[in-house]
This record gives sequence, C-alpha cells and structure tokens, in this order.
Amino acid sequence: MFEQFGELLVEGTAYNVTEVDRMRRYITTHNNAAKREKWSRVAYEVTINEDMSIFSCECGQFEHTGMLCSHSLRVMEILHMEEIPKHHIMKRWMRDVRDVLPGHLVQYQKDSSQNLSFTCRHATLYVKAMEVVRMRDASVASYDHVNAALDAVLQSGAAIAEKRDGLAFEDRLVEHTPAIPEQMGN
Ligand SMILES: [Zn+2]
Repeated sequence: MFEQFGELLVEGTAYNVTEVDRMRRYITTHNNAAKREKWSRVAYEVTINEDMSIFSCECGQFEHTGMLCSHSLRVMEILHMEEIPKHHIMKRWMRDVRDVLPGHLVQYQKDSSQNLSFTCRHATLYVKAMEVVRMRDASVASYDHVNAALDAVLQSGAAIAEKRDGLAFEDRLVEHTPAIPEQMGN
C-alpha cells in the first residue's frame, strides 16, 4: 500500500492542473491527452470543501477504495498543502505502513499511528526517490550514475541528518506511540 502511494504521486506528476475556482475547483488533465485513445478519459475535476479538509474527484477512487487518487494528490501538491487532510488518511494505510517499516519501528500498538500525518516533506522526497529509481533502471550507464550519486548523498547526508528536528516520519511515529507494556508470559 505504501508503495502504491508513491506510485500515485509519481503518476500525479503526469497531470496538468487548471484552476476553475480558486481553492475550490480544479481540472486535472493528463499530459499525454493527445496521444491517448479517444475512449480513455483524460480530464478529471477535483472539488475541495470549504475548509480544504475534503477533496472529491470525479474518478471516485477514494470513495470506492479508500485510496486517494493521483488527481487529488496532484492538486494538493499544486496548492502546496503541508499535510494530507486527515479525512483522506485511512487507518488501512497506517496498518500497512507498519507492515513495510523496518523492524525497529514496528512494535506499535494498533491504533496509535492513526493520528500520524504524511507530511509533504516526506511525500515530496518519496516522489523524487521513485523517479530516481525509475531513472536508474533505464540502462547500465544510468544505473552506475544513479548508484554513485546515491552513495554520495548517503555519505554527505549522514552528518546533516544527525541533527533531528522531530518532524521526520519516523520521529512522529514514535511520538504518537504510547509505550506498550511488556507482555509477561501468560
Ligand atoms: Zn481522481
């Protein structure tokens, strides 16, 4: 599910956004609109409620599956929203996030992480990382180039990342997680 979220964001960057009504209505149009088959729909309208807590898209994906569609995500990105509205963060995602998190982050109680917000900082980096991974797959030369660059970032970034501001995805997870009493053998 988490990977799917990243894919949606990447997919979303393939859409151009036109403002119909500021902060209320937007039309997302696929970049490749002209190349697409006539029968496939290329434009979807996204409407936003008054306090910008609910995004509704014509495609209806969120209503049907509980997963935000790439159109709504794209509009959120365009509006520079800092966080994805709570309404759109499904508990299901949170459970699945636990499934893919590294072991040292996994010992959390069931509902503790539902208050967690996917920050845009996290999402933006995620999108870029996905793009880099795709680029890396293009050819051997591309793979070598990206790999070397990633190694360099890992090295230079380690020192900078030592100083934490508490807003990181991992830190917020921990913060929102009450300690779980150890289970004594029963
Ligand atoms: Zn949509």
